[in-house]
Amino acid sequence: MAAQETDDHKYVYDFSEGNKDLKDLLGGKGANLAEMTNLGLPVPPGFTITTKACQAYLATGREPDGLAGQIEAHLRALEREMGKRLGDPGDPLLVSVRSGAKFSMPGMMETVLNVGLNDQSVVGLAAQAGQNDRFAWDSYRRLIQMFGKTVCEVPGEEFEHALDEIKSAKGTHDDLDLDADDLRGLVDAYKKIFLKHTGREFPQQPREQLDLAIRAVFESWNAERAILYRRQERIPADLGTAVNVVTMVFGNLGPDSGTGVAFTRDPGSGAQGIYGDYLANAQGEDVVAGIRNTVPLQELERLDKSSYDELLSIMARLEEHYRDLCDIEFTIERGKLWMLQTRVGKRTAAAAFVIAGQLVDEGLIDLDEALHRVNGAQLAQLMFPRFQLEHEFQPVATGIGASPGAASGTVVFTSARAVELAAEGRSVILVRRETNPDDLNGMIAAKGILTSRGGKTSHAAVVARGMGKTCVSGADEIDVNVPAKRFTVAGQTVAEGDVVSIDGTTGRVYLGEVPVMPSEVVQYFEGSLDPEHIDNALVRAVHRIMTHADGKRRLAVRTNADTGADAARARRFGAEGIGLCRTEHMFLGDRRELVERLILARAEGEREAALAALLPLQRADFEEIFREMDGLPVTVRLIDPPLHEFLPPLEQLAVNVAVAQERGEDVAKEEALLAAVRRMHEENPMLGLRGVRLGLVIPGLFAMQVRAIAEAAVAVVSAGGTARPEIMVPLVGAVQELETVRAEAEKIIADVVGDSGVEVLIGTMIEVPRAALTAGQIAEAAEFFSFGTNDLTQMGWGFSRDDVEGAFFWRYLELGIFGISPFESIDRDGVGRLVRIAAEEGRAARPGLKLGVCGEHGGDPDSVHFFHEVGLDYVSCSPFRVPVARLEAGRAVVETGGSDSR
Ligand code: ADP
Ligand code: MG
Ligand code: MG
Repeated sequence: MAAQETDDHKYVYDFSEGNKDLKDLLGGKGANLAEMTNLGLPVPPGFTITTKACQAYLATGREPDGLAGQIEAHLRALEREMGKRLGDPGDPLLVSVRSGAKFSMPGMMETVLNVGLNDQSVVGLAAQAGQNDRFAWDSYRRLIQMFGKTVCEVPGEEFEHALDEIKSAKGTHDDLDLDADDLRGLVDAYKKIFLKHTGREFPQQPREQLDLAIRAVFESWNAERAILYRRQERIPADLGTAVNVVTMVFGNLGPDSGTGVAFTRDPGSGAQGIYGDYLANAQGEDVVAGIRNTVPLQELERLDKSSYDELLSIMARLEEHYRDLCDIEFTIERGKLWMLQTRVGKRTAAAAFVIAGQLVDEGLIDLDEALHRVNGAQLAQLMFPRFQLEHEFQPVATGIGASPGAASGTVVFTSARAVELAAEGRSVILVRRETNPDDLNGMIAAKGILTSRGGKTSHAAVVARGMGKTCVSGADEIDVNVPAKRFTVAGQTVAEGDVVSIDGTTGRVYLGEVPVMPSEVVQYFEGSLDPEHIDNALVRAVHRIMTHADGKRRLAVRTNADTGADAARARRFGAEGIGLCRTEHMFLGDRRELVERLILARAEGEREAALAALLPLQRADFEEIFREMDGLPVTVRLIDPPLHEFLPPLEQLAVNVAVAQERGEDVAKEEALLAAVRRMHEENPMLGLRGVRLGLVIPGLFAMQVRAIAEAAVAVVSAGGTARPEIMVPLVGAVQELETVRAEAEKIIADVVGDSGVEVLIGTMIEVPRAALTAGQIAEAAEFFSFGTNDLTQMGWGFSRDDVEGAFFWRYLELGIFGISPFESIDRDGVGRLVRIAAEEGRAARPGLKLGVCGEHGGDPDSVHFFHEVGLDYVSCSPFRVPVARLEAGRAVVETGGSDSR
């Protein structure tokens, strides 16, 4: 095991020793630098200090034994290879020190360039660069600035301020107008700033610079911002970062040098072509910092044809090698091209589908891989309406795309005004600095929400996502003045009543109305765009990948639909049945009066009359749905919500009665109603008289519904159709509840169905924790289970769903207590465990028990994977989520290696 032991203590890898699959050990940047080196691409030589070294440092507070020696050895080898010594006064080797974790992570230390420069070697560097003093002093001032800022926490503004002062003394805005003397003066100023803030001189020892920079990278893993980011993104806290030490190449040596970034395809649309930016005579960070204007990469062809051609051939090579879109950072030093970074690049949702489709066409990947490379969140994004010709409009600000969609409307600044204007039928955009729970009504009334502060986990962002409402948060270019009812942005003032448009995907904000266009992907799902006959790369790619997902998936996908129209739409979207047909709404509108009569009934006769009147109405509802879903299963849930929801609000009723009494009117009926409302008032209606409890308390209610379902099924079947009803009893916590309902239902069904051939299943929701824990018993009386994960989450966590999102979830998300709302994505460890237990024990008691899930989680990508893993038969979700669930159910199979987990 000696070899193993030495390997464990190998903390430093030369670029020639690594490869792209070693991201855990070498970080993303290091692994890809090694990969490019081994492909023979021009990468400046260097080495990577492993994440293991970082882990050891963080655990003990000091560099692990052997690290210093290994760095020394690799540095010596590097010096031999380059024929220079680190910081040599005559001809210095300079290096960059670059962090690079497995996942790219904001909040971590950035890069320090030009390590190895000091008061002596700056002179040597100038000499080696052909007496280019300007270049040498510019490089030195950058080192002090970056080192000061990132290694010693000197406030960056101080350096920027000093730079601005020199520029304004010279009367220029352009760094390039500063000459060697100016920059030498700047170095002096920077050193003073360094001394003032650190209490020590800028370190002149090259090796000390290097060691301090490496240590700072290690420590930046635990910077506050990095910790927060990891918690939110669920990145494990113990990965650590690698550190890359890379020989410097110089893009700031003159007009024949420069630096740039490039993509192998358009990350916006996925189109093939050349996309990137180039900046002549500059060092790396200038491109990103936007200090000077970059030129489109195509310009490089004119500036330096041979580097350009080489770059293009390298990009083609990389794309073929990685079999994906790559992004690239490069530098040209006096006509010589160097590759400084590559990785599989980020892309928009549309580009993800288009690129996956193209790579299949090119034979670089197969359809399984294409399916793996897209996801349901992207598909969901593509199903929102978008702004038309967005590129023809100039955004005035860009914030965070906090909740997707495109919305235009009249600007309002208060919740009250939003409600007022919305009541007049106007579209409004609620603009706030940040929202708080008092803004809830305004947020409900608004088409979209725009805030100048806050990120993806701000109150506005969390609540808007929960409501499915378009939201841009943290657009900090906008200055909101609520009392004055206006905001200013880019020198313009926008008052209440003006129109703005916001894009909740890109975070862009426009003045005026930008026309909205429907999603082509939705048109395709609805059947109005034929992928075989239109020239639309996106629709063709979506079609191809969806078809593949359908072929792969084991989970069936049903929909939640309460009306024939919803059912029909969901069927076009690919739904294979209805997993949840709620019957509550069927008791509203002009049927309310019948329900009131039912609730108020004193004598049995009154109640029966009310139920008899409701029966044909319910039967017609179910017939319509069974016809639309002809041949597919339809799960009908017996009535669930608390009865008082059907009665007028207590206060209003009390006032009405008092007024009527005053006038001496006959109020006997109103008084009876008032008494009933008082009687039924509940402190915690969510935990009160609802679901099966209601069915057991009001005689005849469930019986009427069961009869309506059975009669509707028989009617559809006798008309030549096929009805497959499944009756679902809500809120069961004990098998005795279900047995009681079942006994009565079976009698009615037998009576109605006769020999029509209709088969009616009876099952239950599993949504009370006790039901999950006694699933073995409950399965004795149930032919199917449908997990109601909304209530299961609510009761599992003790969260009142209607209250928590506005009240404190944003804070929980901000603190990283959970990375995502457990109502949005199932909490695998807690609520998921209940599902797992119920699935296992239910199936053990009744093999062949049908298992599904209804509720928002059925359309959530991560949750779909979970339901696949625990072996459910189907998920059910809202019609618009059906395609997302189909896609993710296919991905779940591909990602678990095609195995059937049951
Ligand atoms: P980030 O992770 O923020 O992209 P990098 O480590 O890639 O940080 O460094 C940022 C930029 O610094 C690079 O794009 C490159 O232009 C420049 N840079 C880094 N190392 C070197 C080097 N050895 N020679 C020249 N430029 C470098
Ligand atoms: Mg980079
Ligand atoms: Mg429920």
